[in-house]
Amino acid sequence: MSQGTATVPIDDEAIASTLERHPHADGVLVREVLAKARLMDGLDGEDMASLMTVSDPDLLGELFDAAQFIKNQIYGKRLVVFAPLYVSNLCGNECTYCAFRARNTELERRALTQEEIARETQILIEQGHKRVLLVAGESYPREGFSYVLKSIETIYGVTPDKGEIRRINVNVAPLTLDQFRELKACKIGTYQLFQETYHRGTYASVHLAGKKKDYDWRVTAMDRAMQAGIDDVGIGVLFGLCDWRFELLALMQHVRHLESRFGVGPHTLSVPRLEPASGSDVASQPPHAVSDIDFRKIVAILRLAVPYTGIIMSTRESAHIRRETFALGVSQISAGSRTNPGGYADIERENASQFCLGDHRPLDEVIRDVAALGYIPSFCTACYRLGRTGRDFMDLAKPGEIKEHCDPNALATFVEYLIDYGSAETRAVGERLVHDLLAEMDPVPQQMAAKMVERVRAGRRDVFC
Ligand code: SAM
Ligand code: SF4
Repeated sequence: MSQGTATVPIDDEAIASTLERHPHADGVLVREVLAKARLMDGLDGEDMASLMTVSDPDLLGELFDAAQFIKNQIYGKRLVVFAPLYVSNLCGNECTYCAFRARNTELERRALTQEEIARETQILIEQGHKRVLLVAGESYPREGFSYVLKSIETIYGVTPDKGEIRRINVNVAPLTLDQFRELKACKIGTYQLFQETYHRGTYASVHLAGKKKDYDWRVTAMDRAMQAGIDDVGIGVLFGLCDWRFELLALMQHVRHLESRFGVGPHTLSVPRLEPASGSDVASQPPHAVSDIDFRKIVAILRLAVPYTGIIMSTRESAHIRRETFALGVSQISAGSRTNPGGYADIERENASQFCLGDHRPLDEVIRDVAALGYIPSFCTACYRLGRTGRDFMDLAKPGEIKEHCDPNALATFVEYLIDYGSAETRAVGERLVHDLLAEMDPVPQQMAAKMVERVRAGRRDVFC
């Protein structure tokens, strides 16, 4: 059976010459590119390279304004919220930056039992979460990969009186075509996998042992996932390992490869920066550390380059950076996260964590903060449950129609959160925001949103359109 393509063509030489052609920012060119970006048709590598060198505060302000414009046009005030659920930290690989790597003896190893996974799920549901990202190291307990499939079934199977997990996204090591088919059959949302670095030399220097040494097996994972019928895939780079300018252009080549092969690119892009991790020198002293201002540039440039692709920011980032970056194009955030298996039930036991978090606040506090900044925390899972995935999602998203669904869905799920889980303080901030946003909406989505919110207030749950 075919295992898909042999590799994804990442053209290092073309990237190097594109970067050489743009050694410093040319104000006229930058403004031309920003004007083009505002048409919301995306940017090519040359355009992106011309924006990467911007450092003048005025031009930088114009870049951020353009990104904010696109974010508002396409995503409005919505920020989708999720929590990671780490089921196991067993791993056979030796990624020098990760605490889960096989030879790290400082880490307490643990693969949760199905009962423990159900317990973690129950806690996340009680906090108000509706979406989780299942995460595991690349080695499973005795039953092998079916451990992951069983875990998904367990999570969807936790249905207390109030609440449930409505979408499980998955971040596990690259799979075979048949395994991807099994994953698809479990009704996952997005399959997520980061290439870490697209630079082969750097890749070889940080992946010392185990299956993950094989760059091509990893870079072709999304081809197999999409061949297996998983429409929504999420790709990303672990920033700090190699020059971020190279990584952004390589990431775009990966996006364009998927677009040309499958007619649709990735559903999401993730932008993790290296964080300190136990037993890792690379993680505490990244060879190509990305500054806060460059991090914001990365988010802004991606927002302009692929306007309809979601951008995910995790709790690796501090509350301060997260606040500053929402406006530039982030569409999904994690909140209240733990990166150790069992970390929601056992909050004391952190020496099994993958890396250190930048944002330690509980979900309720993050929701209050996000709402106070004017963003609607959305727990919506409507698209994938209505089959609006992959190309269908993009077809709907591109003319901006998705806003007519997303804003009402976001408001209805936010009100559901406020009533069922919000603290009094968060409810006060949230209800004010709901009132203001309803008043600002266009008549059609406003009518729809008002009706849906009323149904939630009357006791209906899981209301979506
Ligand atoms: N084991 C699978 C893999 O490597 O793809 C999936 C799970 S792995 C725990 C998820 C992601 O965590 C990795 O792809 C990597 O980008 C990220 N990660 C690892 N170490 C990190 C660190 N020190 N700081 C930030 N992110 C890290
Ligand atoms: Fe294992 Fe993934 Fe960590 Fe690498 S990044 S050591 S594969 S868990």
